[in-house]
Amino acid sequence: MGNCCQKHCACLEHYLPWLFSGRSRDKPVETISNPSAGGGSPDNSVGPHNLGADPPPLPPPKQNRKFVALFDYQARTEEDLGFQTGDKLEVLDSSQESWWFAKLLVENGFVKPGQKLQGYIPANYVAPDQSIEAKPWFFGGFKRADAEKQLLCPENQEGAFLIRSSESQTGEFSLSVRDQQTVKHYRIKRLDNGRFYVTKRKTFQNLNAFVRHYSRSSDGLCVKLGNPCIKTEVPATYDLSYQTVDQWEINRDSLQLLKKLGSGQFGEVWEGLWNNTTPVAIKTLKPGSMDPKDFLREAQIMKNLRHPKLIQLYAVCTLEDPIYIITELMRHGSLLEYLQNDGGSRIHLPQQVDMAAQVASGMAYLESQNYIHRDLAARNVLVGDHNVYKVADFGLARVFKLENENVYEAKHETKLPVKWTAPEAIRSNKFSIKSDVWSFGILLFEIITYGKMPYAGLMGFQVLQKLDQGYRIPQPLKCPQELYNIMLQCWSAEPKERPTFETLHWRLEDYYDMDSTSYADANTFIK
Ligand code: ATP
Repeated sequence: MGNCCQKHCACLEHYLPWLFSGRSRDKPVETISNPSAGGGSPDNSVGPHNLGADPPPLPPPKQNRKFVALFDYQARTEEDLGFQTGDKLEVLDSSQESWWFAKLLVENGFVKPGQKLQGYIPANYVAPDQSIEAKPWFFGGFKRADAEKQLLCPENQEGAFLIRSSESQTGEFSLSVRDQQTVKHYRIKRLDNGRFYVTKRKTFQNLNAFVRHYSRSSDGLCVKLGNPCIKTEVPATYDLSYQTVDQWEINRDSLQLLKKLGSGQFGEVWEGLWNNTTPVAIKTLKPGSMDPKDFLREAQIMKNLRHPKLIQLYAVCTLEDPIYIITELMRHGSLLEYLQNDGGSRIHLPQQVDMAAQVASGMAYLESQNYIHRDLAARNVLVGDHNVYKVADFGLARVFKLENENVYEAKHETKLPVKWTAPEAIRSNKFSIKSDVWSFGILLFEIITYGKMPYAGLMGFQVLQKLDQGYRIPQPLKCPQELYNIMLQCWSAEPKERPTFETLHWRLEDYYDMDSTSYADANTFIK
């Protein structure tokens, strides 16, 4: 893994290390001129640096062109190559970062009638053959909490396991195993000679041998290793297809609007289908709600922001009204409605902390890219299958034309972003990542209260007055002191005193004590 990855790093490399293998991350990168960058920008916002300026990936060396599919992929265009988990592929051209041209390697030369053998594949769906990332049980940068969540899914049974990179010890790994309704974790350590072990009485040349041994006998572990943990979360591709990487102004005839999902201040959101193959979300904007040129400038940046906890922008239709914004589709809609519908029946503190940690992870990435969201709130977080939460609508607030300046004082409480916005951003238009941190504090309040309106009963201007006098939302019922302390820090009057998203991310991830004593001992179960 490259040198950018620290314990709680949220960068793409952390999730998809093989995409970066063979690329120097140390080289200085050019900075693209960014229209929304600070210095002259009227509202002091800062744009991302080095986006789109990374050196192109080197083609894989000849001997390392064989890859294994980590997930199923259904071809979306005639240029695409569909494949199934475990299929072997030879990558013939990897000059484009996210879509590679590949050949399916067919076992025994057996080809089904009509089967396509060459085409474009999403690079984040494959890993180099024989690499540890290609093993079905390897879950890379997965965190301990993720491992528990995943292993306890009903699809997994006793003995289901995964191996992940250790969060605290670089170069070491952790084994997580399902033992009835709990998950046990073991540290996989290394001797000076590189051999792996959980107990020094049995060491292994590599992790394959380790897995083979403990799949035959528990030999001190709580249970014998069974099937690798099921991978329920299929990653989003970064574009709709190879062609839309550069041409992401797409023809609106390629879209079918199937079902209206909701509407907001600036238009509607539809579930749709692109190219008759690919489910997408389509945001249709009210005519006049933004200047297409401003939008395209911002969208260019948004398109390059890539993170598992951010909604991926796929494409746009801006040539005529209404403007369409095409993004990743999230099956369960907005977090606000999700929380309100649940009201505490299924969602409890551990899930709430997990939601907050996932949002903080996406925001930590935006922070690392010097990008500002400007409208972080539960209504702008979307919920996918398997408890996945992603941040949506980042940067859009910057380009919307507000019908009148009073939008912050609109009559309906639900249309009062002022309650989410830091005082310095309202008063002096000083939006920064620290004003996003303020909004994150309000989002924490929404999460813990199952979607209650903050400052209920107060109008926007009253909220501002009270905040100036030092007032802060009181500790909500059932909100633990520790979580409330985090909210209060997010609401520090002085932006500099608010925590970074990086800090918020690890504090929330480590919310449930994860010290080394919580690791199991591989000698406990020896008879
Ligand atoms: P506002 O316009 O005031 O920010 P909003 O964020 O609720 O309000 P929209 O972004 O237009 O408005 O979204 C409207 C609704 O559509 C959301 O509440 C959500 O339920 C649904 N929605 C939006 N984007 C998606 C998506 N990518 N996948 C699935 N549902 C979505």
